[in-house]
Amino acid sequence: MKSPSRRKFLKMVGVGGAALAAGAVGGSAAASDGLKINNDNVAMLYDATRCVGCKACMTTCKRVNLDSGSLAYEQAEFDPDGLWDAPADLSGDTRTLIKLHKESPTKWAYVKHSCMHCQKPSCVSVCPVSAMTRDPESGIVTYDKGICIGCRYCQIACAFNIPRFQWDKALPQIVKCDMCKSTELPRIGTTGCASVCPVDAIHFGKRGDLLAEAQRRLDAEPEKYIQYIYGAQELGGLNHLTIAGFPFEKLGLPIVGDQPPAEFSEKIQHTIYKGFIAPVALYGSLCYVAIRNMKKAEQHNGTEKKGDDA
Ligand code: SF4
Ligand code: SF4
Ligand code: SF4
Repeated sequence: MKSPSRRKFLKMVGVGGAALAAGAVGGSAAASDGLKINNDNVAMLYDATRCVGCKACMTTCKRVNLDSGSLAYEQAEFDPDGLWDAPADLSGDTRTLIKLHKESPTKWAYVKHSCMHCQKPSCVSVCPVSAMTRDPESGIVTYDKGICIGCRYCQIACAFNIPRFQWDKALPQIVKCDMCKSTELPRIGTTGCASVCPVDAIHFGKRGDLLAEAQRRLDAEPEKYIQYIYGAQELGGLNHLTIAGFPFEKLGLPIVGDQPPAEFSEKIQHTIYKGFIAPVALYGSLCYVAIRNMKKAEQHNGTEKKGDDA
């Protein structure tokens, strides 16, 4: 009675091993797919030359995303009475931040920091439980607190240092912009920050249209803008585009190149999986030999039994 069930088990792991090996090869092929930039995704265009630093976008972001009760006001050291929400940086309570870049007393610019909604997002690529996902149609990168195990790989992988962890919460989660996917976007068809900006420094729309609009502004006032659209190509394309009158690295937007790190990390993962193929194949072979030996032993036993009966 023992032999058949053990054989069944060995068959199962043998088939499983072969499937794992085949899956590893298939995964490697899949990693090289989908590198084209999708201009039909939704996106935001931030024009730093228009921004007046009013921070209406920041306060609105906090207000419209209060649903989870996770985005609290942050008191600054200079404000002992707590009169303003004044975060010093992105944090477990702040999804977007307007920072001031000062060149001289008469020359400055504001810059908005928030998730870039990368078309090849490393945060998605490294998340071991798929708590970070990218909707292929809209291009929005979202986070599921119900799945997250708190490993914070997404934080380490993000080239823009965007995801933040709620160190001070009993049930912490990762915090980052989700383009108001479940709040303002279905409600009013645009993002909270874009809807309140009094000077149209934030524009929401189809990525292709926003690229055309950005280029139109660069052409119309070449002396005002750096002739470059940050995000058009960076890391394989970002869905948060920026145009500005100062070099982007001065505004805290790093020079990152066009190659998506997600592709790089996937290559590493699949190289590791490829390394598993040899031991998995060996394991499968051992299972085959074990099953064959069991069959032989059963046949032998059967023959012996027949002989006894005769
Ligand atoms: S609401 Fe508009 S102008 Fe005000 S800080 Fe935000 S982006 Fe700048
Ligand atoms: S900016 Fe960072 S958090 Fe946002 S999608 Fe890209 S990798 Fe993920
Ligand atoms: S799109 Fe929504 S979540 Fe993202 S920064 Fe703007 S208001 Fe905040």
